Amino acid sequence: MIYKRKPVVFIIFIFILLSVSANFGRVKTNDIPYVILISFDGFRWDYPQRGLTPNLELMAQNGVSALSLKPVFPTKTFPNHYSIITGLYPVNHGIIFNDFFDKFQQKRYKVGDVESIRNAQWYWGEAFWETAERQGIKTGSYFWPGSELKLDYRRPTFFEFYDHDRPYPERIETVLKWLSLPAARRPHFVTLYFDATDTYGHRHGPNSPETDQAIRRLDNILGKLFDGLKQIGIEHQTNVIVVSDHGMSEVSDQRLINIDRLISDFKFKTQGDGPVMMLNCGEDEIDAIYQILQRQQKHFRVYLREQVPEYYHFSAHPYISPLVLIADPGWSLVRGISSNLNYRFLTKGNHGYDNHHLDMHGIFYALGPAFKNGYRTGTLLNIDIYPLICAIFNIIPRQNIDGKLARIGFILKQ
Ligand SMILES: [Zn+2]
Repeated sequence: MIYKRKPVVFIIFIFILLSVSANFGRVKTNDIPYVILISFDGFRWDYPQRGLTPNLELMAQNGVSALSLKPVFPTKTFPNHYSIITGLYPVNHGIIFNDFFDKFQQKRYKVGDVESIRNAQWYWGEAFWETAERQGIKTGSYFWPGSELKLDYRRPTFFEFYDHDRPYPERIETVLKWLSLPAARRPHFVTLYFDATDTYGHRHGPNSPETDQAIRRLDNILGKLFDGLKQIGIEHQTNVIVVSDHGMSEVSDQRLINIDRLISDFKFKTQGDGPVMMLNCGEDEIDAIYQILQRQQKHFRVYLREQVPEYYHFSAHPYISPLVLIADPGWSLVRGISSNLNYRFLTKGNHGYDNHHLDMHGIFYALGPAFKNGYRTGTLLNIDIYPLICAIFNIIPRQNIDGKLARIGFILKQ
């Protein structure tokens, strides 16, 4: 009897084993949430009040919206995107400016110089995709500073080399394709990036019809993403977070601070202009230049590298130049006007100023199963987004980061 029954028992046993393991497999993939992190470059905190953004309004009604998102100083694109994705202040993640110099290695980091932005040596932080991949979660990035490093183990599984002119719908379609891959290959965390509000904000100013058009265009592309998620059937499992790296201030050629005229007797080099400028000079001239600039501080502040106020978290770092100049919002630090009558001031909007000033604040909207419904909060800090996403995936964040879940966790459902 026993011998006769054994094959049946064995078959039943195998059947149970198969169904249990299949179930485990299903439970496991279903358990991993989806997070899509979208950046609208230079989308100021108050743009949604213009009534041009029905999709952001829907996110606010059904999800979480913050009064504003506070960027890190300097309120520039690369430092802020890398702070969002690492949970670190620029002095801790290494990308302190859009353009800086390592005098020890005689190497320069510059946005726009593809060699330097793909060189992993500058990036000291651990991006969220590194944290996630190490803990078994596949990730993708359709553009994000730091996502296209030459070291493959520091990149997301899926990534794209930055192409400013890549059509927006194509970016959405590719991300939807990634999210439609077989479960084993599918990324669960994806970033997207769109520049329009920054580009037109610079060119025409934050209060221009052109910027309004860019605001409409980005909200529209967001709508396309939501439609796509519905089509592939993961809209209820997906958490969409929309942020911006900084805001935008109106600037004018009537509000210029000409550094060359202030310290005309000295030889010096500068990095950056407009809202914030770093100044390099001979060691023995630092103090003299500092004294002169300090006496003439009008519409700007000058700091020795070691004395930049603590609230900027931008001090005592080897890549920061000996002198840091910060213009008042709306004012621009410039060079080369005194001798050059052809100087053309083309910018109508700019960012990089004091990160506490509201003009520099961005947006934060979040919608999905992880988030509370119709919850409106005050200002959030962008360095807290990294630990927030770690919490959504229930993975261990990198230790010793500047971001704190305790400052942002209340927007989550659980
Ligand atoms: Zn930006």
